[in-house]
Amino acid sequence: MYDDVDGWNRIPYLGRLEFYNDFCDFKAQITVPAQQVVWATGDLKNGEVVLQPAIYSKLMAAEQSDQIIAVIDSTDVGHATNITRDNPVNTWRFEAKNVTDFVFACSDHYLWHSSSVLVDYASGRRTRVDAAFNPIHKDFFEVASFAKKTVDLMSHVFPKWPFPYSHETVFDGLDQMEYPMMVNDNPLEDRAEAIELTDHEIFHTMFPFYMGTNETKYAWMDEGWATIGEWLISPMIDTTIVDEYGIGATASLAGSEKDVPTMTISTEMSQSYFINAYPKPGLAYLYVKDMLGDDLFYKGLHHYIAEWHGKHPIPFDFFYCMNTGSGKNLNWFWKKWFFETGVADMGITGVRIAGATAYVTVQLKGSLPLPIDLTITDKAGKKTKVHRSVAVWEKGNTRTIIPVPAKNIKEIVMGDAHTPDADKKDNVWKPLH
Ligand SMILES: [Zn+2]
Repeated sequence: MYDDVDGWNRIPYLGRLEFYNDFCDFKAQITVPAQQVVWATGDLKNGEVVLQPAIYSKLMAAEQSDQIIAVIDSTDVGHATNITRDNPVNTWRFEAKNVTDFVFACSDHYLWHSSSVLVDYASGRRTRVDAAFNPIHKDFFEVASFAKKTVDLMSHVFPKWPFPYSHETVFDGLDQMEYPMMVNDNPLEDRAEAIELTDHEIFHTMFPFYMGTNETKYAWMDEGWATIGEWLISPMIDTTIVDEYGIGATASLAGSEKDVPTMTISTEMSQSYFINAYPKPGLAYLYVKDMLGDDLFYKGLHHYIAEWHGKHPIPFDFFYCMNTGSGKNLNWFWKKWFFETGVADMGITGVRIAGATAYVTVQLKGSLPLPIDLTITDKAGKKTKVHRSVAVWEKGNTRTIIPVPAKNIKEIVMGDAHTPDADKKDNVWKPLH
C-alpha cells in the first residue's frame, strides 16, 4: 500500500493491529480434493461445474429468496457424490472487484445455509448471505438469520447505506475476524453473544473495507464503527439485548494514567488500545448521532461515505465531512473526545423544588462531555425519563440545570447503559421526607 500521507505502508502484521491494503481486482482459482466446498471473497464463477446440479440450483434460488435455504443440509453431508462434482479434484474460480483483500475457506463436512436481502431499493440489487458451519455448533443454526438481519438493517437503518458487496459469508472458524465479503467467527454458547459477534464482524464491511481506512494507524476508524454497529443492531435483532461492550472499561480507564487521546496512533503495546479503538470512538459516534438527530447525522455520515469510499480517508477527512455534511461545526466535540483525554463522570449536585417542577443541577465532573439521562420515579412507581444530548456542554460550561416533574417525587437516578460514568455514587437523589 502506498498513499500520499505516509508513502509505503511498512507496518507488519503482528496480531493486534490489523490491515491497510489498496483496492484490487482478484481472479482466483482454488484447486481442492473433490469433497471440499470452497467459500471465498468474490463471486463464484463456475458453480455449475464444481457443484452437483441440485446443490447449485439451491444456491441460485437462495440468491433470489428471502427465505433461508439449506443449500447443504445434514442429509447431503457424508455422501461423497451429493454435493460436489465427482472428480479427483475440483478447481473453484472466484472473481472480486475493488476489494482490499482476498480470503477463502473450505470444508468437506460443513452445512451451508443461504438467503438474500434486497439491499438497494433503487436498483433492485440483492446481497446473498451465508452461514457455513459445523453442525455440532448449535448456535450456527441461527447465524444465517442473524447475518441476514444485519445486512438488511445496515442497508436500510444504520448506517443506512446499501450493502456494497454481492455476498456476505459467515464461516465457522476459530477467530473473530473480518475480511471483504467473509467473516471468520468462532462458535459461542450464549445466543446474545452470537448475535453481537455476527453483527459486529459484518459491520466491518463498511468500515474499513468499503471506505479503505488505515486500520494499522487508526483502529478507531473501523472498530469504533463496528462497536456502535453492534450496540445499535443487536437489540434490533433481539429486543432483550442491552449491548454494553466496552462501557465498563471506558468508565475505569478513561482519564487514567494509562489513557491517551483516541487520535494517538494505534500501537501493539498501548494500554489504552482497547478503549481507544472500540468504545470511546463508538460512544463519540453515538453522542454525535444523538446530538444531531438522525436526519443531520446521516447527512454528515453519508457525505463522508460518498466522498471517501475507496480513497483511504484519514481522521481529518472524517471530521471535516461530518461538519460539512451536517452543516454543524462539531470541532468542540471532536477536540474533547478525540484529541484530549478525560474522566467520564457526572453527578447530581442539587435539586430545588418550586411548585410542580424540580430543577436538577447536573455537574460535569470530568472533562469528557456526556449525555444526561434522568429517570424520575414518583411514590406510585411511575417513571418519567428526561434526556439531554451532549449539546448541553457545548459552551464549555460544567453545570446545567434540568427541569423535571416534581409531583410526589420518590427519587431521581441519572445514567444509561451507554454512559460510562466512572463514579455512580453521586447519580441518585432522594428527597429528605
Ligand atoms: Zn472489530
